[in-house]
Amino acid sequence: QLDIHPTGRHFLQIPGPSPVPDRILRAMSLPTIDHRGPEFGKLGLKVLGGIRQIFKTKHPVAIYPASGTGAWEAALANTLSPGDHVLMYETGHFASLWQKMATRLGLSTEFLAWQGADAQLPHAPSWRRGVQADLIEARLRKDTEKKIKAVCVVHNETSTGVTSDIASVRKAIDAAGHPALLMVDSISGLASADYRHDEWGVDVCVSGSQKGLMLPPGISFNALSPRALEAAKAAKLPKAFWAWDEIVEMNKDGYWPYTPNTNLLYGLSESLDMILSEGLDNVFARHQRWAAGVRAAVNAWGLPVQCADPAVYSPVLTGVITPEGVDADALRRLIHQRFDLSLGTGLGKLKGRMFRMGHLGDSNDLTLVAMVAGVEMGMKLAGIRLAGSGVQAAMDHFSSHTAPAALQK
Ligand code: PLP
Repeated sequence: QLDIHPTGRHFLQIPGPSPVPDRILRAMSLPTIDHRGPEFGKLGLKVLGGIRQIFKTKHPVAIYPASGTGAWEAALANTLSPGDHVLMYETGHFASLWQKMATRLGLSTEFLAWQGADAQLPHAPSWRRGVQADLIEARLRKDTEKKIKAVCVVHNETSTGVTSDIASVRKAIDAAGHPALLMVDSISGLASADYRHDEWGVDVCVSGSQKGLMLPPGISFNALSPRALEAAKAAKLPKAFWAWDEIVEMNKDGYWPYTPNTNLLYGLSESLDMILSEGLDNVFARHQRWAAGVRAAVNAWGLPVQCADPAVYSPVLTGVITPEGVDADALRRLIHQRFDLSLGTGLGKLKGRMFRMGHLGDSNDLTLVAMVAGVEMGMKLAGIRLAGSGVQAAMDHFSSHTAPAALQK
């Protein structure tokens, strides 16, 4: 029996909160300033301008001192009225939570889901695939009275590691000639997976600080469109703290109607500097490379990836289905105790059947190889028979096509 005490750094490999770079932690440790003073206004204008570049929008972005769940509520409360009918799409646990929230707010919700068969997870086939835009189009075409006021979809389903093609949803809404607003949850997609607010015609995008932006939890966002701002004028759901009008007005000078999260905004300023100087295209390509390396490991182990459609693999996290009879949570506990490595749990319908490996935040090729090694050793300790070495596959992936140009002859 080994008596092991954790030393070195903890491996935070859940799909958010993600590891925070030291540079951001240092930026956040500066003294808190007067949120009505001149210095603050400059900070406010800088982060509000920078975050628009991340969303790829020229329209306002509201920043809330709240977790992502608050920004979900803000999106619905600002645009809709009691009893409004909303079309949502079941891609996983977070889509289900958003639907539950909409119901609790007094909206009437309809939950579309892919109905095909899945041998591995017969009880949750739609939790392995992205949004099927043709189902949305067909439903909207039937709505001749235009009762559906909004279509809500999750861009990167953090419970499964499946993305959805948001541009295809916009096309479906337009093809049906339907006026519904398009609302997108990109809480775990933003700044890791390609996202284009204006180009894709999204009306409200909800995001959060603790994933691709590499910040601690505590701030969240609503990126808006002119149609969303217009809808907010007539919407009747109660809203006060979440109301966009006062926020957007005061944001013009870099201030907020209430006390904003000053030190997290220092962190956001640093995060924007890091992401924008690397360039969004490089950031997206890096996450794709990481995801492909981790999937190579999972394939080498001979285990199924939760996402069943290669076209929509998440660049942010990979869900791994454990062999029948293996409790994924017991495996996660063992790996945590023995290797001080945290993995994401299976949520909702996936409890005990899978675990999630995060590849986002303050990481690099080597930390991801270490994560793969921790998981592989844990599975061996748990007596799981593996088809091959995931560590070798990940190393092969990261050491193949990725040598800097300067080293190539
Ligand atoms: N939506 C998605 C896709 C998420 O990943 C999360 C959190 O992980 C949420 C919503 C809820 O956000 P929060 O936990 O910050 O309130």
